[in-house]
Amino acid sequence: MSGIQKGGMGEGVQVVKLGEREGAARYELDEGALRRVLLREDVRGLPVVVVSVAGAYRGGKSFILDFFLRYLNAPRCDQQTGAWLGNEDEPLQGFHWRGGSERNTTGIHLWSEPIITTLETTGEKVAVLLMDTQGTFDTETTIGQNSTIFALSTLISSVQIYNLTGNIKEDDLQHLQLFTEYGRLACNSTSKAFQTLLFLVRDWPHAFEHPYGFLGGSSLLNKRLQAKVNQKAELRQVREHIRSCFDDIKCFLMPHPGHSVEDFKFTGCLRDLREHFRLALIELVPSLFDPKYLTPKLISGERVTTQDLFDYFKTYVGIFNS
Ligand code: GDP
Ligand code: MG
Repeated sequence: MSGIQKGGMGEGVQVVKLGEREGAARYELDEGALRRVLLREDVRGLPVVVVSVAGAYRGGKSFILDFFLRYLNAPRCDQQTGAWLGNEDEPLQGFHWRGGSERNTTGIHLWSEPIITTLETTGEKVAVLLMDTQGTFDTETTIGQNSTIFALSTLISSVQIYNLTGNIKEDDLQHLQLFTEYGRLACNSTSKAFQTLLFLVRDWPHAFEHPYGFLGGSSLLNKRLQAKVNQKAELRQVREHIRSCFDDIKCFLMPHPGHSVEDFKFTGCLRDLREHFRLALIELVPSLFDPKYLTPKLISGERVTTQDLFDYFKTYVGIFNS
């Protein structure tokens, strides 16, 4: 079943999945699906902006991606006034966000319709791609297998959003270290291999300590990534490693959307979302997608086009399978 998005049709298409051959994990690239997204006539040769949301199942990734789609598909005037959030009684559509048949699908999904936008700084056209990366982290095996999926999406994206629930925990940092370790191996680089990392903490419970949004996010991040005197060498190394991998690291604290999300009749209408949550969306989404702030994907300092991205997908999947 395909999701229909107001202002444009589309659906999430799985382009990489985790398979198995002779008992070992294997990453399967669906080249046909990837070609249909990246090698379309209307986006041929355009530089890409790739925003990925990665994290565990049922963390609200698809839900937030659908607000990204709303913003991207809204007219410029609505983007500027906040009207892009939509109507009070409009169900949230796009990537399927209620679990259901997609349960536990490890892999990478792309939104089938790249959104063509003009960079405000240079007037150039770019193709914005949304990516959904999901894994499970319950056993040693799944952590290891998923690391490569996350590494791949981190290598491919200009912004990797690491979607977490409640807090940035020591475990989350260790998983991140593992992903980035694999990623660095694949691109054989000792310099900063990745662009922007955004820790997106959902259901942040301590707003009195660190306020919602980028403000509290930045103070929480400083606290978490700080190297402390008397800190165990292992903990310090994780932090140094993470800092050394990315050009830029940010954090955003999201409030809980409200208890209607637990109601089985909830369809994602704005009227059911708490005011704090809406305000947070209005701060977060334009910071990622406003034509003033869009960051094109760079690899080794070069702009990446849709065709290049197609080739990089093939190369990286090949490396991870070898
Ligand atoms: P995904 O598996 O990470 O893509 O998660 P989904 O987007 O499918 O969301 C899973 C469930 O969490 C849905 O029932 C949503 O209504 C709910 N949800 C979405 N965003 C949030 C959030 O910020 N906090 C909480 N507690 N639930 C959310
Ligand atoms: Mg999902």
